[in-house]
Amino acid sequence: MARMEPRKAEIIVTEAFSMSGRSSFHTGGRAEYYAEPRDLEETRSVLELAYKRSLPVTIIGGGTHILVSEEGIPGIVLSTRELRGISIKGDLLLASPGEMLDIIINIAIEHSLIGLEEIAGIPGTIAGAITVNANANGRSISDLFFYADVLTPDGRMHRYPNYHDAFGSQSSVIGRGGLVVMVALNLIPSKRTAEARMRKEEYVERMFIPPCARFSGEIFRDPEGMKAEDVLREAGMTGYHGFRAEFSEYQPNSIFTYPGCTSDEIYALIRTAEKEVEDKTGIRLTRSITLLGPFRDQAL
Ligand SMILES: Cc1cc2nc3c(=O)[nH]c(=O)nc-3n(C[C@H](O)[C@H](O)[C@H](O)COP(=O)(O)OP(=O)(O)OC[C@H]3O[C@@H](n4cnc5c(N)ncnc54)[C@H](O)[C@@H]3O)c2cc1C
Repeated sequence: MARMEPRKAEIIVTEAFSMSGRSSFHTGGRAEYYAEPRDLEETRSVLELAYKRSLPVTIIGGGTHILVSEEGIPGIVLSTRELRGISIKGDLLLASPGEMLDIIINIAIEHSLIGLEEIAGIPGTIAGAITVNANANGRSISDLFFYADVLTPDGRMHRYPNYHDAFGSQSSVIGRGGLVVMVALNLIPSKRTAEARMRKEEYVERMFIPPCARFSGEIFRDPEGMKAEDVLREAGMTGYHGFRAEFSEYQPNSIFTYPGCTSDEIYALIRTAEKEVEDKTGIRLTRSITLLGPFRDQAL
């Protein structure tokens, strides 16, 4: 472990940090450097350090929608998991990037603010949800988005309101090229909090995955006018394809893995799906999941 002491705040930056515990697939190699800043000052220090040493910066939140290369990730991985804090201002809920969705929903309901219940059960952080426009049960996080503050590598802060085209289906421009450091959500005031709590728990139950299982979110975005899961099923991609990872019969756009599975196998399965779908339907799938570090194509 190396202790680097940049000028303003002292923050521990770990060398050769194993990333498998930071990705919900529990696979992948090491980050060249890894940091978990606890506030904005430490965050700026990490970015400054990266700039001075010409190191690329990779941002992760809860790691529930990333696939880490077995070769690791060059440069500094900055995790937002310690950047916590929630405050309420009228109908607005302001959350630091590392706050988990589940906690945010509970606190919102405690303050008689509802609207997020449908996306309960999505694992991960609020900033992760904003950058992929997380959605479930007909509700997208963008429906309640008010603004986000984004820190760019030059140390400047930018405020992004909910402007036209900021969000697409399972995509967003918020956070591209920067670090989301604050998210404001415009929630619905309501006295019917008991109902909201019950609704929330019901959605969490529906999403429940036993702790022993490794299950992903949606790997591909929906092609125009179609569901990626239908396209994958049509191309015969569910079930066994020679890897310790499979597209689920139950949710064909999600991957589950067997013990011992590696990122290389998951990547090979993703590439196989892309090729099969294109060969059989002519559709080019776009990935929703973020790949971190180098991945090499094997002969398929
Ligand atoms: C079992 C399971 C079920 C899931 N179900 C759903 C579902 O129903 N609906 C759905 O939409 N998703 C689902 N997902 C996917 C995932 O949980 C969500 O997309 C989640 O919002 C990702 O948040 P995260 O904090 O884990 O992001 P990460 O996986 O850590 O990162 C995802 C992306 O966001 C970027 N990012 C994260 N934080 C920041 C930041 N502060 N600033 C800039 N960029 C940032 C990362 O660079 C990366 O590109 C599921 C995942 C799993 C494992």
